[in-house]
Parts: sequence; C-alpha cells; structure tokens
Amino acid sequence: MPDFFRRKPTFNREDAEHSDGPVVPDGLWVKCTSCKDLVYSKDFERWYRVCPKCDHHARLTATQRLNYLLDSGSFEEWDRGIVTADPLHFSANGDAYHEKVQQASQKSGQPESLVTGRGRIQGYDAVVAATEFAFLGASMGSAFGEKFVRAVEKAVELRLPFISISNSGGARMHESTFSLMQMAKTTAALSRLGEHKLPHVSILTDPCYGGVTASYATVADIIIAEPGAMIGFAGPRVIEQITRQKLPAGFQTAEFLLKHGMIDMVCRRSDLPETIALLLLHYADATMGRHTPGYAHASTGKEGDA
Ligand SMILES: [Zn+2]
Repeated sequence: MPDFFRRKPTFNREDAEHSDGPVVPDGLWVKCTSCKDLVYSKDFERWYRVCPKCDHHARLTATQRLNYLLDSGSFEEWDRGIVTADPLHFSANGDAYHEKVQQASQKSGQPESLVTGRGRIQGYDAVVAATEFAFLGASMGSAFGEKFVRAVEKAVELRLPFISISNSGGARMHESTFSLMQMAKTTAALSRLGEHKLPHVSILTDPCYGGVTASYATVADIIIAEPGAMIGFAGPRVIEQITRQKLPAGFQTAEFLLKHGMIDMVCRRSDLPETIALLLLHYADATMGRHTPGYAHASTGKEGDA
C-alpha cells in the first residue's frame, strides 16, 4: 500500500462540505464523479479526496489544501480583513455583485477567493497563497490581487520562497478592468520576487483557466500540476467553436501540457509535500546558502544552514 493511503487525515467533514466534486453524504458512501464507483466516505476523506479506484483528484477547499500541504499547526493567515469592494456597483440579471460576494462568503466560509499566509512544508518555511473555488469560482478580483501581492512582498521581506496553489475560472468579470489589472499587478510582484532570487513554485489544480493561468500561475520557477487537472486559457469547447477544428484527445489536461512543455511536472496529491520540500531544499542549496536569515534547514533546524 502506498504511503499516501497510510496518512492521517488533516481536515474534517465541515471543510469537505464546502468543496466541489463528489458529494459526501451523511451516509457511508461517496460516488466518485469520474468512475462513478462507490468509495467508503471516511476512506475518501482520509485519502485526501483521491479516488482509490481511478485516481481521480477531487477538488479541495483552500482550508483542506493548506491543512494537507503544510505541517500541522504551522499556518499563520495574513490579510483576512481584505475583502472585495464593488467599484463599479455592478449588477447583472437583477443580481447585485455585492450580494453575490456575501453569498459566496457564506457558502465557502472564506471572506475572499484567496487565502494567504505563512506556513511550513516538511520543516521548510514558505509563504503560501491558495485559491478558494467555492468563492465565485476563485475568480481574481481586486482583493484577490491585493492579497496576492502583499503575500509576495512579505516573502521578499522575510526572504522566503513563495508557493501558490491555484484553481480558478479566471478574472472576475464583475470588476471588469479592475480585475484585468490584477494580471499585471500579480506578475509584476513576482518579478520583484525573482529579482531577490526567491523561488515561486506554482501548483495548478483542476480547473485552472483564464486570467489566472494567463498571469501569475504560469509565471513560476517550477510549475506543477495534479494528475488530470484541466488547465488552459479558454475552455476546449470555445476553442473548437472558434477554430472549427477537432481538438486532440486529452487536450488541456496536465499530462498533455507536460508532454508539450507547458508545465514541469505532474505530481500526485500524496507526493506534493515531499516534492515541494525537495524543491525548496534544492533552492536553499543553490541560491540561498548559509547567509539567508530565517531560512531553516529541515533536518538541522538551524537557520541558513542549508
Ligand atoms: Zn473514481
């Protein structure tokens, strides 16, 4: 049995209820949305919402994601008070944007579609930013962009690597140009991170589209995707309609993108903590060295002793 199936769960049923993907009923079984097979619900949660029969990686909430990826109890959240404004007083089909935001907040349990902060991955300190898909499809608006940039600037200040975990529908159309501006804003912040020779590891999860894929999520030193994740700019149906061409099998899957050089690796959810820790160790050895304050070595715990 792989290590993955021996891990202890780090998130609870309350978190699971906020996530998309297979529904966890009050009963004992979960129906996998991919193979349609039944999985014992406690096992499904214990296996981090990966189907043991077909390996389908179901969607996680930001809280589940961070609980799983980070060392237990290590996460310190930042900027939770930064919330969406409604600069355009936008309304469509009788639905006011500010009301949609309130509903999204209640549904997701998050005040915004991005959660940022600091945590440890297998002993390595890092700044992390994780999207919350249950909040308006984790679309990137002004508050998202501001939280992202503040997290990157904090990474520069603390001399820490930056890890982003993204799934998103793209830019938040309710904010129009204000939303599109976040593409430039987040990318510019990452440019400053690069100038300070600090790594950005981007983890793409299903689904990742639009202005998020087209900006910060693919501006990274290492781009990792979970198996089967759908990643692109426009969706395949739109591309087929515009180009009037039949798209190849597996188009926009993580495996397809790896084959065509768009991402660096496909990594199972169970292997992500170890994989990222190895990358951080590599960067500590290669670029940070022993003079980097605050950068603790996983095995020795000594600062800058990488
Ligand atoms: Zn399955």
